[in-house]
Formats: sequence, structure tokens, C-alpha cells
Amino acid sequence: MGYRRPQSLAALRGVKAEGGWGTVCTEYCSIHPSSDDEPFPSASLWDDNDVSALALTVEQVHEHGALAGVELWHGGAGSANFYSREAPLGPSSTPAGVWDPVQTKAMDKSDIRDMKRWHLEAAKRAEQAGFDIIYVYAAHWYLIRQFLMPSNQRSDEYGGSLENRARLLKELIVETKEAVGDSCAVAVRFSASSGGPDEDQDTAEPREMIEMLAELPDLWDITVHDYSYEMGTSRFVPEAALEDTMSWVKSVTTKPVVSVGRFTSPDTMLRLVRQGVIDLVGSARPSIADPFIPYKIDHGIEDEIRECIGCNICYTGDQTGTPIRCTQNPTMGEEWRKGWHPEHIDPKGSDSRVLIVGGGPAGLEAAVALGKRGYEVTLAEARRELGGRVTLESELPGLRQWARVRDWRLNQISKLSNVDYYLESVVDTEQVLEFSADRVVLATGAKWRRDGMGRWHDSQIPGWESTSVLTPDDVFRDTVPDGPVVVYDDDHYYLGGVIAEKLRAEGHEVTLVTPANEVSTWTTHTEEQHRIQQRILTLGIRVRTGTSLAGIADDAVTTECVFTGRQTEIAASTVVLVTSRIPVDELFHSLREDIDIERIGDCLAPGTIATSVYSGHRYAREMDAGEVVGLPFLRER
Ligand code: ADP
Ligand code: SF4
Repeated sequence: MGYRRPQSLAALRGVKAEGGWGTVCTEYCSIHPSSDDEPFPSASLWDDNDVSALALTVEQVHEHGALAGVELWHGGAGSANFYSREAPLGPSSTPAGVWDPVQTKAMDKSDIRDMKRWHLEAAKRAEQAGFDIIYVYAAHWYLIRQFLMPSNQRSDEYGGSLENRARLLKELIVETKEAVGDSCAVAVRFSASSGGPDEDQDTAEPREMIEMLAELPDLWDITVHDYSYEMGTSRFVPEAALEDTMSWVKSVTTKPVVSVGRFTSPDTMLRLVRQGVIDLVGSARPSIADPFIPYKIDHGIEDEIRECIGCNICYTGDQTGTPIRCTQNPTMGEEWRKGWHPEHIDPKGSDSRVLIVGGGPAGLEAAVALGKRGYEVTLAEARRELGGRVTLESELPGLRQWARVRDWRLNQISKLSNVDYYLESVVDTEQVLEFSADRVVLATGAKWRRDGMGRWHDSQIPGWESTSVLTPDDVFRDTVPDGPVVVYDDDHYYLGGVIAEKLRAEGHEVTLVTPANEVSTWTTHTEEQHRIQQRILTLGIRVRTGTSLAGIADDAVTTECVFTGRQTEIAASTVVLVTSRIPVDELFHSLREDIDIERIGDCLAPGTIATSVYSGHRYAREMDAGEVVGLPFLRER
């Protein structure tokens, strides 16, 4: 939400403080227009207007007795400054941004003096806004870290030797403490590694640096070099993954140490504190999925914790310049604009009996939220198991934790005596009418298209009726026959890549074909595209990017280069088309004239699991809430 949506941000952070977190920090907070990360929305403390905007957050955090922290940040070569048009800055002139056609200005002494002055001015503004903890941000690929890294070969006292490279950080800590240290703590965010493989990162230099600066800050906030590891998805990175890399930090400083690790298990948190790895439990995603984790631990209701599934949908908001969303927590980002609270929901507005058809994420979330409001709810599910696509997809390689979307809701339903569900109940028109519920909502999901229409193909792929064609729904249900397989991904999120991985693991010769220029291209937003393509290539799956399907026969496909139109044949006894989906909404069309019936989730508009959960939650919140006049949410401008 950054500087663009201060009220939304304040309400979100306030809810976390209410949930019991001891300290609530802002996201990265730019200190000056020479560090502008548009279109990615950071917080900012450029001038006094920003003070009042961030003071809203501080007030809400303080209201619940938590401390407020701010991560003062200069992006250096990490920001291309397309909004401010200031020259990006760096220790030397290097490419700036991410594949952007701009470079930094090599900072001279006066630039370094300016940068330090901006940092102090921002620190004073932060103090004025009421913050308790002020960060010097020396992690990842941002300015201070660019000075720290061996690539900083400046010939003056700010480059070359380790001591010289650490000089800027040291001066910033000392000067920030002098400026605001009487009222605020000064924390340092620092990478405990300088790269290397996930579990075996190189910690030699960072260790020397922490030893050198050990007692200067009031708090060490430790991360690692590789951002895609620090905040890796559950498909690739386990809980508490940073432990091995940073477990030595406390042995070289007496100052408190905090770190993150997608901690969803209170036992893991406690173990790390007891073993002296950390003093304070840091949390980003787990506190997004459940802002009330501390409260729930404190009250002995750990089974109520809505565990993060590690899908990184939350991070796609940052990547696409849109407000944060969460798969598990549909209220995330809606605290101010819709007044939604993760733990409270209004009591029912009538005695309506509700029939929900379909027990995927949309149907389950609607059942839980309606149940909590006090409605009588009946849910009918065609399959033997609840969970819909989540149950099916969590069986695929690496997606096991996604089942938490189902499991948390099943646990909630088990505590709601007014919610019943029936399995193996395929509901048809007659049954709906016979049941005569006051409200009927269809959460019947969507099925994958068999004809190949998707994002590149806006018409059917010739030969789609061939017996060799399967959809993901077939792959979930049946074993794929022996022989070479082509997986055609015109969906571009995770599923095409995961299905290719599954079939390869089952021993098939697999070729992944996609009209995009990289595998699972939308997963750039979840910070896992690189890891996905790496795994696919490592597994020996052949990859044909920039390639569409011109035709399908029983034993081969004809591919076509999307740039040149050049055609080639690939042998394939099976072709899995992962392209787009069709809502399962026949019941809606046959009943809409006769009864009060609505659609939610993929049945309304196929999307992500997060979209379905949100859709189910919204349906429940809006029942008997009166007609919406004007926009469906408050807008910040
Ligand atoms: P969503 O993401 O919108 O929840 P899913 O595809 O995950 O969609 O879930 C839809 C669920 O609806 C599936 O579990 C499916 O078995 C069930 N379903 C579809 N049609 C019917 C029906 N006619 N009667 C009962 N359940 C149905
Ligand atoms: Fe966790 Fe996914 Fe929610 Fe992010 S969006 S907090 S990764 S469940």
C-alpha cells in the first residue's frame, strides 16, 4: 500500500498490533526522491506530509500497546527512479533497477554527505511521527549493502577493504543514534550471508562485519542475501530456513537478534528462542495469514491459527503495484476500505437457511463465515472429500502445504453446530428446489478447457478432439498412459510447470511448451519463477518457450514459433492442455429465474485460490447487509 494508501496501511498495521505482536514495522520506507521504487509502492518519509501519513499507522499501533518500527531505506542501484527522475545513486556507476536501461551516478563525497543528511532528516521525521524503532536498512541489494559488498571497489575510504566498505553503515548507525537515540531504538537489518546455495550460504564476510559493529545498534534484524530464499514459497523453501545461516549471530553480539522464517508453528518459534538462535520472533507472511497469532498462542488456542501456506500471493501485490492480498486471510487489505476484521464478523441479519453447493475454497469459506454469523448452513459436495481444487492440487509436487486452506476451514466447521455438510452429494436442479433453502449459493468451481483456448489462443487448437488430449482435471483423476508427453502451458501461473514436474517424476519423457518467453511466467510475481525453471530444467524436462501449438494429432503435435511462425513436430502420445477454465454454472442458468441464487469463486469467474476464498467471504459478509450504494469499498486518493 505504501505511501499511496496511508489509511489502509494504518488499519492493517493496527489490526496486527491488536493481534498481539510486540512490534509492528512498516515496509521499506524511502528517505529521499533519489530512492523511488515506482511502480512498486514503498512507504516514504521525504517531507513533512509523509509524517502525518505515517503518524496514522503509529497511532493505531500504539493504541494496542505495541511498538512501531520504520525501515528507513535507500534503494541505490535497486531503484530506477522512473517517477522522481532523479539519478539513481551507487558506490560506482552500475546498471540500476531490474533489467532497466538506466545506470547509477557514482556517488562522490558530497553525495555520501547528502545521503547521510537525508537519512538523518528522515530519522527525525520518523521520531516526529512517533516511531519507537528506526531502522538502518543494510540488507538485500539496496544502497548500504552495495557499499558493503566486495563489488564496491571505490578507491576512497568508502570502498576496497572490509573496514572501508562498512564505513557508511557504521556512520549511519552512530549518527542516527546521536540524532534520535534518546527516544528511539536504532535497529540494523543485515544479511548474514553473501550468497551461495540455499542451505550452504557464504557467511564469512557478513560475520566479520557484524563482529566489527556488534554493539553499535540496539537490535540486529537478520536476513540472508537471496531474497527468494528469505521469502521463498513453500514449494521450494521450508519453515525456519534461515536458521543454519544465522545461528551464529547471537554468539558475536550481546544485542537482541530478530529474524524471520515463515514461522507458523509456535513450537518452532519457541525452539529457536530457547536454543538461542533468536531473541525475538519476526514474522511477515504468518502475520498476514493470521494477524492474531500471538493472541492465539497467549490464549492457548493454537489450533485456531490460520497458517500461511507459503504461496506468496501477498507478494504479488508488491510486484504488481496493488494492495496486499492473502490466500488464507480474505480480510487482509480490506481492514479500512471495507471495515473487515480477521476475527470479528457481524451477527446474522435474518433467519435465512443457506444451501451452499460445492466445498472448494469458496464454498468452505462461505460456510465458515456464514456459520460464524449464526446462519443455518448446509453444504453439499459432489466428491468424497472437501477442499475442491485445493485438495487436488495439494497432491502435486511441492504443494502439500496448500491443503491448509481446506484444513483450517474444516476445523472451524467442526466447531460450528449450525453448519452441516454432505459428501458424495451431486446436487441437481430438482434437489435444489426440493431443499427449498431461503438462499442458494453455487460454489461449483470451474473445469479446465479441452479445446486449448487460453491466453495466446483465442480460438480452438486444431485437432483438440484428438484422443491424446488431456486436461489437468484428467491428470488429477487418472494415470497418464506411457509414452512421451507434451504439457502445453497457456495459463502461465504454476499449474503447467507443476504438472510437467509430476509427470516427469512418474517417468514420462516430458516437453513443456509455452507461448511465453519463460516457464510459469506469472510466478515472477511470487518470486519463484527462477526456481521453477531451474527445477524443470534440472529434472530433464525439455522446454520450448515462445512456442504455441498449431495442431494436435494422436501421436504428435505441431508447434509454431510465436515470432517466426516456423513449424516443427514433436512426438506425443499425450498432450496436457493447461490453458483456461470454464465455470461450472449450469445450475445457475437453469434456476436463476425461479429462486434466489448466486455464484461465488471459480463458478462466478475462475481465478486464484485467493480469489475464491475472498469471494466466499464477501458473499457471507454481504448477506442481509443491505444494498451497496456507490462503490463497493472506500477509496483513498
Ligand atoms: P472454488 O475455487 O470456486 O471453491 P473448486 O473447483 O475448488 O472451486 O471447488 C468446487 C467444488 O464444487 C468441487 O469440490 C466440486 O466437486 C464441487 N461441485 C461441483 N458441482 C457440484 C454439484 N453439482 N454438486 C455438489 N458439488 C459440486
Ligand atoms: Fe502466506 Fe500465501 Fe497469505 Fe502470503 S498470501 S501470507 S504466502 S498464505
